[in-house]
Amino acid sequence: MQFGIRTLDEAELRGKTVLCRVDMNQPVDRAAGTLKSINRIRACVPTIRELCERGAKVVLLAHQGSDIEYKNFYSTEPHAKVLSELLGCEVQWIDDVCGPAAREKIKALHDGEILLLDNVRYVSEEQTLFEMKLRLTHEQQAKTLLVEKLAPLADMYVCDAFAAAHRDQPSLCGFEQVLPSYMGRLFEKEFCTVSRVMEQPDRPCVFVLGGAKISDAFLMMETVLGKGVADQVLTGGLVGNIFLAALGKQIGQGSLDFIYRSNYGEYIEKAEALYRRYGEKITLPCDLAWVTDGVRHEAELGDVPAEIAAIDIGEKTAEVYRTAILQAKTVFVNGPMGVFEQAPSEFGTRAVWQALAQTEGFTVLGGGDSITATEKYELTDKMGYICTGGGALIRFLSGEELPVIKALRHGASLCGK
Ligand code: ADP
Ligand code: MG
Repeated sequence: MQFGIRTLDEAELRGKTVLCRVDMNQPVDRAAGTLKSINRIRACVPTIRELCERGAKVVLLAHQGSDIEYKNFYSTEPHAKVLSELLGCEVQWIDDVCGPAAREKIKALHDGEILLLDNVRYVSEEQTLFEMKLRLTHEQQAKTLLVEKLAPLADMYVCDAFAAAHRDQPSLCGFEQVLPSYMGRLFEKEFCTVSRVMEQPDRPCVFVLGGAKISDAFLMMETVLGKGVADQVLTGGLVGNIFLAALGKQIGQGSLDFIYRSNYGEYIEKAEALYRRYGEKITLPCDLAWVTDGVRHEAELGDVPAEIAAIDIGEKTAEVYRTAILQAKTVFVNGPMGVFEQAPSEFGTRAVWQALAQTEGFTVLGGGDSITATEKYELTDKMGYICTGGGALIRFLSGEELPVIKALRHGASLCGK
């Protein structure tokens, strides 16, 4: 038991049918019918391998979005192929989620065999809950089609999808109401690691917050500053620009236009309030970079031209951040320092990421683009911990009890030991 949740150490698996929810959602290339990355699939391997080696009949549940999240869902068929290769054994797949064909296939499984069902979001109750803000209690989720059809065929439920732990949906929170439930190894590892950052970070504890998902950054900043988790927050990307705008600094009309176009105007006021309370802990860029006709330019605050769009931190800021990161004992990172996808505006992200790789402090990094940057600079092995979840990680760090964690605690009480 960890945090009130059962681990696989406590599960009797031989001959048991296990419903295992994983998060293998990856960017897809629809035209080629392939996946652009297989990181999350790789991360699921230890749990699946353990379930299979310990003699369970493994039924995998997963979702797959498209380029636009929650729209144009994509099949999990390519995932089965990748998983087969990674595991070195056959992963069966069926183009059905909980209909008669899927149920027959589950019943026919032998010990140690693995079946991946098709995208759980093809079942309407899974997605309307999220997209339409229609809320079902966990008890009501247990009465959805997915849970009512699949739970009777299973002996237990294992959730390994920490990256989806903030989602309140039947495949994630419904089964725990009716089946003995456990967390998988990846879930356990991610949960323990991020709990450690939150509860007892080695100090100084520095947060590096950049990127473009402003609502997430602000949600987290209020908590980690309010609770005293963060000793210092280094800001970059759009987050940094918004703070600078809040303090009345010239960041260029292009930068402001981008903020308003992204509907983040209201955050300028929020940033001002946050800076008033915690200003001494929030470090802002002292110079900014922009690109015209493919050429990078930089200027210190005060000398930034009126019309530009700042898309990276400047070299001086990068050096200040680098020093802070090298002195830190814990570093949490979410969001790149600039538009790192293009060469002229990648300097800040590259410099900060290299400092992350060099620091002796423990680094925890999350977020899709932050992970992409880590891979781009070939620093994956140099980070302390790379979390598969972006949204879940941020909500966890902002102190929310995640729906899946609550459900798993309930499911632990059904284990009868
Ligand atoms: P993550 O996926 O790591 O959580 P985000 O999705 O929040 O990070 O942000 C990443 C995106 O932010 C990248 O596509 C990057 O190009 C963009 N970005 C970073 N800095 C800026 C900026 N100053 N202006 C506009 N976009 C930016
Ligand atoms: Mg992103």
